[in-house]
Amino acid sequence: MLDDLSVRLSDALSDAGLLPGNGDFAGEGRLVVRNPATGHQIGQVSISDATGAHAAVDAAQAAFGPWSTTLPQDRAAILHHWHDLILANKEDLARIMVAEQGKPISEARGEIDYAASFVQFYAEEALRPNIEGVTSHLPDAEMELWREPVGVAALITPWNFPCAMITRKAAAALGAGCTVVIHPSAETPLSALALSELARRAGFPEGVVNTVIGDAATIVGEWTADARVRALSFTGSTEVGRLLYRQSADTVKRLVMELGGHAPFIVFKGADLDRAVTEGIKAKFATSGQDCLGANRFYIQREVYDEFCAKFTAAVEALTLGHGMDDPDIGPLIHDRQIDKQNAHVQDALAKGARLLTGGGVDQDKGPLFFQPTVLADVTDEAAIMSEETFGPVAALSVFDDEDEVFARANATEYGLVAYVHSLDPRRIYRATRALQYGMVAVNRTKVTGAPIPFGGMKQSGIGREGARQGLEAFTEIKYICRDWG
Ligand code: NAD
Repeated sequence: MLDDLSVRLSDALSDAGLLPGNGDFAGEGRLVVRNPATGHQIGQVSISDATGAHAAVDAAQAAFGPWSTTLPQDRAAILHHWHDLILANKEDLARIMVAEQGKPISEARGEIDYAASFVQFYAEEALRPNIEGVTSHLPDAEMELWREPVGVAALITPWNFPCAMITRKAAAALGAGCTVVIHPSAETPLSALALSELARRAGFPEGVVNTVIGDAATIVGEWTADARVRALSFTGSTEVGRLLYRQSADTVKRLVMELGGHAPFIVFKGADLDRAVTEGIKAKFATSGQDCLGANRFYIQREVYDEFCAKFTAAVEALTLGHGMDDPDIGPLIHDRQIDKQNAHVQDALAKGARLLTGGGVDQDKGPLFFQPTVLADVTDEAAIMSEETFGPVAALSVFDDEDEVFARANATEYGLVAYVHSLDPRRIYRATRALQYGMVAVNRTKVTGAPIPFGGMKQSGIGREGARQGLEAFTEIKYICRDWG
C-alpha cells in the first residue's frame, strides 16, 4: 500500500511541479531515492558536480547585493509567504518525508509544523532593530553597532529532520539578508527540493535560495574552499563536523556546528516514575531513536531501579513498529549502517554483562531495516553504548547510587547537547542543572525545542546556537561606527 502511495505521490507532486529536479545546477548524473520501509525506488533526482556547486555560489553571490538591501519588511513578507505555503502543503511535504525518510506520518506532520515555525519566527525577527547604541567612552564621539549580513551562507543538513533542519538555518540566514546554498543529505533530497520549490513560489528572487544535490564531499568541499562563502552552518555527525571545521579554516568562515549527542536520562528516587517512563519513551524512541536529542544512557537510582526497569520494559513492549504511513510508534531505520550499529551496540553490551529485557534485533517479518525497540539492563560503563551515539531504538539502563557519581558519569563524554533529569526535589534539581555540562537541560519533560529557544550543544556537540535571536549571530557581522562631532 505504501509503495503505491509513494509512486502516486511522486507522480502527483511532479505533475504539480513540486519536485523540479535540481534546477540550473544539475549535471548528467542521477540519484536514486529509496523508501527505507521497502527498499523500493520512489524517485530519481539529477545531481550536480563541483561545477554545479560553484555555479550555485555564483548565483548566490550575484543575488546577495540586492537581497541584503531589500527592506526588512519586504524580506519578512516573503518569509511569511514561504511559511504559509509550507503549511498549505503540509500533507504533501509530510508524505514525501515518510516516503524517503520512513518516520511515522504523525511525526512527519509535526516536523512540518516545527519547520514552518522557524520561518515565521525569523520573518518577525527580520523586523527587529539591527542597530544598537553604545555608551561613549570618548568626548564628542557617538557610537553605534550595526548588524550586517555576512554574505553567502552554506547550509548542510542531515536526513533525520529533512525539513526542519533546513528551515532552522535558512530562515535565519535569509531573514538576516544572506543568500544561501543548501546541500541536503543524499537520503532525503526530495523534501529539500520541495521546500526549495515552495521558496521559489513564495517569491524569493532568483539566486537567493539554491539547493544542490550531489556527492557531499565534492559539493561541500567546493564551498568550504570558496572564499565567497562567508558562513557555514552544518548539522550532522561530530566526525563530519570536525572535517568541515578544518576545511573552513583557510577561508576563515563563520561556523555553526550542530553535531552529535549522547544524552543522559537521569531518574532520582522520589521522581514521578510513571512520568519518567512516559518521557523516557519519547526521549528514546521518537524518530525511531534517530534523533540527536535521543536519550542514549538511562541512569536510574538504585531504590527505584527495578520498578523503573519493569515499567519501562512494559511500555516499550507496547510500542508498535511499522511502515510510516500506518502511523506506528516506530518506523524503519534509514539504512543498513544504522542496523549494523544497533546490532554492534547490543552484542557488545551483552558481552560486557548487560541483560536483554526486550527486543534485540531486526524484525525480519517487517523488513531488513526494522529494528525492534530494545531495552538492555545492568549496562556497564565499559559498553560502547555508554560512550558512543547509538542513534537508534536501543535503550541502555544502568543503576547509580549517589548524586556525585551520576553527575560524573553523565559528564564523562565528549558530547554535551542535552541532558534529561527526573526528580521532584528542588534542591537536587538545582544541583543537577548546575553540574551537568550540557547546552540544554530538560527537567521532568522531554520536549525542549522550539523556534524561540537557542538550540545547541557544549563540548564536541557543537559551536553556536540555532533558533532564537542567537540563531542570527553566525549570519551577521557587527560593524562598529564611531562618529566624532568635535
Ligand atoms: P552526517 O554527518 O553523515 O551527514 C550530515 C550532512 O553532511 C549530510 O548532508 C551529508 O551529505 C554531509 N556530509 C557527509 N559526509 C561529508 C563529507 N565528507 N564532506 C562534506 N559533507 C558531508 O550525519 P547524518 O548521518 O546525516 O545525521 C546524523 C548525525 O547528525 C548524528 O550524529 C546526529 O546526532 C546529528 N544531528 C545533530 C543535530 C543537532 O541539531 N545537533 C540534529 C540532527 C542530527
